[in-house]
Amino acid sequence: MGEPSAGAGHALGVYLHVPFCARRCDYCAFATWAGLNHLSEAYIDACLTQLHRAYDEGLGPAATIFVGGGTPSQLPGSELARLLGAVHRQEGAEVTVECNPEDVTVGLLRTYAAAGVTRISLGVQSLAPHVLASLGRRHSPETVPRAVAAIGEVGFSSFSVDLIYGARGETDDDWVATLAGVLGLDPPPPHVSAYALQAEPGTTLWRDPDRHPDNDVQARRYEIADGVLDAAGLPWYEISNWSRPGHECRHNQNYWHEGEYLGVGCAAHSHLDGRRFWNIRTPERYLAAIAANHSAVAGEERLDSDQRLLESLELAVRTREGVDATALPDDEMLAGLVARDTSRAVLTLRGRLLANEVACRLQAPARIARDDAGRDCPDAVLPDGR
Ligand code: SF4
Repeated sequence: MGEPSAGAGHALGVYLHVPFCARRCDYCAFATWAGLNHLSEAYIDACLTQLHRAYDEGLGPAATIFVGGGTPSQLPGSELARLLGAVHRQEGAEVTVECNPEDVTVGLLRTYAAAGVTRISLGVQSLAPHVLASLGRRHSPETVPRAVAAIGEVGFSSFSVDLIYGARGETDDDWVATLAGVLGLDPPPPHVSAYALQAEPGTTLWRDPDRHPDNDVQARRYEIADGVLDAAGLPWYEISNWSRPGHECRHNQNYWHEGEYLGVGCAAHSHLDGRRFWNIRTPERYLAAIAANHSAVAGEERLDSDQRLLESLELAVRTREGVDATALPDDEMLAGLVARDTSRAVLTLRGRLLANEVACRLQAPARIARDDAGRDCPDAVLPDGR
């Protein structure tokens, strides 16, 4: 097929996309569908075909595997295990599965553990019932401690809780109570991701301007989250991610370092050998392409070295490691947004709130050329790692 040709020896990631959900949440713009679970078995078969083709092309073993969606926990555990069993992996590979709290049982998690899963990412979003309702989520807060207790009982080496802030109807007190409730779970999560709610075009939320999030409120909620999580021993390591040392998500770190990864399944993106490509978006068309022995790839691009340098800086500046100090001008416009030592420039708390604005000042050759041509920087936006 002439698709993946991963270089052996790279820290390769494999992303497996599960495009099924029980119901579509009001804010969701991901490639996922409700009412298609009956396609699960055929979909896993197609993913396996895509994987086997990649191995025939010389794909190496994965250092990290991430099963996302969609809602992977909507799949029967045996189907997910069948898919994971086909992924070649290195010794000590990190294997993460995204789960919704209402799907989690000890039995399901034991099936995951037997398939080599090391890490669970739990979509909690909020512990306030009216906020969950406002987001269009189907779980209640009571499902969360039960799911976390099951994670503790089965004994994964790490897990993460995903949160969203800024829904209409959420107060600062609701947000503080959610953070406290999450940190008080048994066992407490060693990793938390927190994202600013976005009104993405085409979503139910987007069509309802009265419920659109307020930027000032979200900035305040971000500052609250950073203070609470840092004080609890989970410092930030990327704009939307906080963890105890040693519990960072290695799969996402590979993305932020412009590493190589293969995306398996509909709508999944890949980056191999300097080539970016992405798969057909809908499950039905993905299945049809694989069944017809065609490529699943819908499009591709190759970036030149200047573009790659700029992109790597844009990703790196969002992390706690920051960028080489010379990549950002030492001028008044960035005062208070960037902390510097002799070698690195790292976003301050205020800089994280204005990360896109800071990224506009990154000094890579391609960006300088575009700015000279009169390109405007976009308005400051809130941090959102998605
Ligand atoms: S559960 Fe997650 S992927 Fe599914 S619709 Fe809701 S936000 Fe989207």
